[in-house]
Amino acid sequence: MYNPKSMKAEEFIDDEEIQESLRFADAHKNDLAMIDDILNKARQYKGLSHREALLLLDCEDAEKNKEIFALAEQIKKEFYGNRIVLFAPLYLSNYCINECVYCPFHGKNKHIRRKKLTQEEVRNEVIALQDMGHKRLAIESGEDPENNPIEYILDCIKTIYSVKHKNGAIRRVNVNIAATTVENYRKLKEAGIGTYILFQETYNKKSYEELHPAGPKHDYAYHTEAMDRAMEGGIDDVGLGVLFGLERYRYELTGLLMHAEHLEAVHGVGPHTISVPRVRHADDIDPSAFDNGIDDETFAKIVAVIRIAVPYTGLIMSTRETKECRERVIHYGISQISGGSKTSVGGYAVPEMPDECSEQFDVSDSRTLDEVVCWLMEMGYIPSFCTACYREGRTGDRFMALCKNRQIHNCCLPNALMTLKEYLMDYASPKTHAVGDSLIQKEMLNIPNEKVRAIVAERLKEIADGKRDFRF
Ligand code: SF4
Ligand code: SF4
Repeated sequence: MYNPKSMKAEEFIDDEEIQESLRFADAHKNDLAMIDDILNKARQYKGLSHREALLLLDCEDAEKNKEIFALAEQIKKEFYGNRIVLFAPLYLSNYCINECVYCPFHGKNKHIRRKKLTQEEVRNEVIALQDMGHKRLAIESGEDPENNPIEYILDCIKTIYSVKHKNGAIRRVNVNIAATTVENYRKLKEAGIGTYILFQETYNKKSYEELHPAGPKHDYAYHTEAMDRAMEGGIDDVGLGVLFGLERYRYELTGLLMHAEHLEAVHGVGPHTISVPRVRHADDIDPSAFDNGIDDETFAKIVAVIRIAVPYTGLIMSTRETKECRERVIHYGISQISGGSKTSVGGYAVPEMPDECSEQFDVSDSRTLDEVVCWLMEMGYIPSFCTACYREGRTGDRFMALCKNRQIHNCCLPNALMTLKEYLMDYASPKTHAVGDSLIQKEMLNIPNEKVRAIVAERLKEIADGKRDFRF
């Protein structure tokens, strides 16, 4: 029985409710009056239910689809302006005892190079990432209680925050590790993590069990209820995601939004972020082996519909996507992207030789961070290295309240400009520096409050003189 307030996975992700929603959407997807009602509701920026969102996803009317994409763009501008936050993944260890059939780190893969970073190697990776200009990382690790116990992850977080190389610093570490206990989540919270990210992979229990035939991750309920344990452990910001391509995308979108509704119903705060990865080629993995791959058009629609359904949730797109796809989809609501990513263990400091493969998937956008930053600015976006909220204690419901009433804008734009200036001073190529300086001048005029604008102007000068780390 569907119950968003239930703490049981099979009740808040109720299969019958998803099936019923799919049937409802089949029956009404081209009911233009109903679509109009939903669009009008969405224009109030309060989000949509999973059923309403599914109807928009399924709608086949060309004119209405144009409206859907336009509304997603409008919501993106309203909540996130033209800023895009940048981050990089950092792979700590690819030892894993699970057997996820879509991931080359699965325990049965005997030819992938297994590697776990020592603390010295973590330091070297962080220096390499700082030298690119990164301030925000997402750490990733396989599940292996012997090789990667929680103590190892905590040591790595400590090391990452401790490295201060030239003007560099990692100011926010998000964590993407396997579902764990409340006690371990508490330890992660104490270690000062930003968001805890855990992809559901698929919300369909039957498929989930087939795709995860062995290992602790096989337990659908334990995995699906992880965010509740994370929140019980004190982690305010959690990031959801599914791996598109494993199951039918309509099922997944419905499950994903039901999960968001569950978090809101139980904890009073929805997901901080949603990621939209698609299955990619990797060692031992052929994406065509999965029947449910989605084309770029469908992918764009999914992003647009998520943007409309949960306007206040950050949307993340990684380098799994090509430059061309990112260029298209970014307008429909993406707020964070990775840049200059390596998905191998230790690949930033010591690039892998072709026969040394330890990566999780092939990166489709292999441009440097500098190229990504310049490309964003040439499209009219402000690349932001801001990490202010979590450092100012603006997390969980405090953050959401500011986000929902759109007050967060007052912090985001000044912080984006100041962190971009830091990037330009310390890491940018001459071309990127020139493009960035004129962008900052132009964007200063968009800071509405005169006092704030004057403070930012003063701080930009101080940054040019060598001072760092200002924030609102
Ligand atoms: S997806 Fe995660 S848990 Fe599964 S095999 Fe890969 S690293 Fe291990
Ligand atoms: S001010 Fe907060 S919401 Fe805005 S970009 Fe910075 S960290 Fe993100």
